[in-house]
Amino acid sequence: MFQNAADPPSGIGRLQQRAWYPALVAASTQQRPEQTWTTRHLLAWIEEHLGSRSVDEPGLVARWLVAHAIGTDPIHLYTDLDRPASEDERERLRALVQRASGHEPVQYLLGEAGFLGRSFDVGPGVLVPRTATETLVQHVLTWHRGLDPDQRPDPLWIADVGTGSACIAVTLAMHLSAAMVVAVDRSEQALTWAHRNVSRYGMGERIEVVEGDLCEPLQSRGLSGRFHVLVSNPPYISDSRWESVATNVRGFEPEEALRAGIDGLDVVRHLLHDGPSHLLPGGLMVIEVDDHHASEACRLASECLELEHCRVLRDESGDDRFITAIRR
Ligand code: GLN
Repeated sequence: MFQNAADPPSGIGRLQQRAWYPALVAASTQQRPEQTWTTRHLLAWIEEHLGSRSVDEPGLVARWLVAHAIGTDPIHLYTDLDRPASEDERERLRALVQRASGHEPVQYLLGEAGFLGRSFDVGPGVLVPRTATETLVQHVLTWHRGLDPDQRPDPLWIADVGTGSACIAVTLAMHLSAAMVVAVDRSEQALTWAHRNVSRYGMGERIEVVEGDLCEPLQSRGLSGRFHVLVSNPPYISDSRWESVATNVRGFEPEEALRAGIDGLDVVRHLLHDGPSHLLPGGLMVIEVDDHHASEACRLASECLELEHCRVLRDESGDDRFITAIRR
């Protein structure tokens, strides 16, 4: 993630604009060869500029932005570092760099984000897929692999509550050919992205994207409202942690996908209250949580009489990131 500890002081947006604009204008009006903006010059200049604005990983962001603006990928930039950028490309880059120096998530600027080796369309209004969430998908796949091959449900009903970009729903559907997924979100904007990604991967037949609040739409779906798997990456940032969340997250990503009350467990409590009744016996529940609240969330899950085998699972960095349980 491109998260930055440093907050830009207020008003810096306009200052940045002033500092950036003349530099490119000057470049575009001066015709002498040493002033030509080649890939090499652009990378160096943008990295320096973003670094001075405390943007995290400025070199990496510079490579992504230049590659995007000239229609290639970051690795291929290095095959032709002396390539001069056209006026149009510089124009595109100017807008991207301005947004990046205001700490907008680079995935919004590129219009896509990677998730388990696939690219998902993202933009303002939807949470950028996180690396930690990839592990949630892997936990479900591991659970499925552990089922007796003769007993593996087909269709395998999966509910993804708070689907956002639908990165979890699409990835699960692509890995599990028997999966039928109901992907729920209450944000209309998020659903626009979910629909885009479902059709991008041709999954419209096996993923139903539904507008609704948490488990409510599950009632009339699945096997009489019940599912084999219920997954969720709900909002879970507590009020006290919100202020310390990186600028590029706090200032740009949808708050409703991130914040969940005083202790960050508001939505988790709802899911533990309503979720189990939507699971079939033996069904799997996996919920992403804040690493600091994982043991409390697990304690709450063990209080649910319908659940057993409640455990905390870790993400790829080894942090306590999910709670999982099985429906009795
Ligand atoms: N892991 C995200 C963050 O801390 C939060 C995602 C979420 O609330 N589901 O930025």
